[in-house]
Amino acid sequence: MSIAVETRRAREPKSICVLGSTGSVGTSTLDLVSRDRDRFQIDALTANSNVALLAQQARDFGARFAVVANPDKYQDLKDALSGSGIEAAAGAQALNEAADRDTDFVMGAIVGAAGLEPTLTAAKRGACVALANKECLVSAGTVFLEAVKKAGATLLPVDSEHNAIFQVLETENQDEVEKIILTASGGPFRTWDKARMQAATPAEAVAHPNWSMGAKISVDSATLMNKGLEVIEAFYLFGVETSQLEVIVHPQSVIHSMVAYTDGSVLAQLGSPDMRTPIAHTMAWPERMAAPSPRLDLAEIAQLTFEAPDLERFPALRLALAALQTGGAAPTLLNAANEVGVAAFLGEEIGFLDIAAIVEETMSRALAQGLEAAPANLDDVLNLDRTGRAIATELVTAHRT
Ligand code: NDP
Repeated sequence: MSIAVETRRAREPKSICVLGSTGSVGTSTLDLVSRDRDRFQIDALTANSNVALLAQQARDFGARFAVVANPDKYQDLKDALSGSGIEAAAGAQALNEAADRDTDFVMGAIVGAAGLEPTLTAAKRGACVALANKECLVSAGTVFLEAVKKAGATLLPVDSEHNAIFQVLETENQDEVEKIILTASGGPFRTWDKARMQAATPAEAVAHPNWSMGAKISVDSATLMNKGLEVIEAFYLFGVETSQLEVIVHPQSVIHSMVAYTDGSVLAQLGSPDMRTPIAHTMAWPERMAAPSPRLDLAEIAQLTFEAPDLERFPALRLALAALQTGGAAPTLLNAANEVGVAAFLGEEIGFLDIAAIVEETMSRALAQGLEAAPANLDDVLNLDRTGRAIATELVTAHRT
């Protein structure tokens, strides 16, 4: 098990830094804080460019430090916080400063590889890090986990699947784990044929049937790349063999994932598809706290169904599984190419199926350039990420509709 165990008890109230507070996971985190003000104290909040919401949150929650990543927005943030006594800052270094403050808990909820450096900063100071930002582990798995281990940090999985696995994984019986089974809703295009998928609009792709999430992860859920990224994330978090990781499509999103043991038992965590449950689990861990997620009504749901994922219609999942098998530079390149592809699709530059095509072509071009070695440190990760993005950006031009 790679997840460290927290040794010191957090202070009360627990002080919190939310990296990516203006996003879907960030606002859900603050919603939980607003319901238990005695238990939590917001210290630092960060956003990319949404200054209006960031300043509002900082004032509402009495934050001490607010950071906007986009340096052009610094003056706007300063103006919006004037008279509040809250310190405003901007830029990449300021994000790291937010993560480096002496808080009891850091929510890593920035989207994409952009979240890697600040989240790693929190890990390096030995913080208790709740990790929503799966791209961190996909692009820098070994580097990130080594930092966690070296600093004695605590890593708590926020992603609903990994949080479910964390809840049912018996650490004392780790050797008796046969399989980890990640469930996937199948996304909005689960029953669509390829021709219809290629013509899909960004609005259709982000309309997830069960979960309300940010745009990037919603598109990843539609391609099933999200499930592939999650398999890679699970590989790093739970220290199992790749052959022990399985994906099953479960359209109702009631079972969030399962662990199968050698005695034939399969333990699952269930709940309504509301991120406030796994977020609350990390915020209160090792205790529990109340969350307002809708309660499950199994009689109303009536049926839980399952099907094998279709790797032909959803090649992104196949590519992610292959990248995990290949190892080395492959997961970092996959993640970088996918971020470029998703952004180009959301910007209506390419069609939906072009996302996976661009990822696949990026991987083969990178391989042809001899980019195989696993990144050994943060600089290696960032270099590989840049190279993957450059190749994928060229391919976007070739695929432009
Ligand atoms: P959102 O797009 O809703 O929010 C992203 C947050 O990151 C915002 O605060 C945004 O600021 C900030 N941000 C974006 N780009 C940058 C950047 N370059 N530098 C610094 N900050 C940046 O994403 P989600 O909340 O949906 O997802 C966050 C992470 O959690 C992702 O890695 C996702 O895969 C993961 N996750 C999300 C789930 C969900 O239900 N949403 C479930 C499980 C995992 P601004 O608002 O100013 O743009």
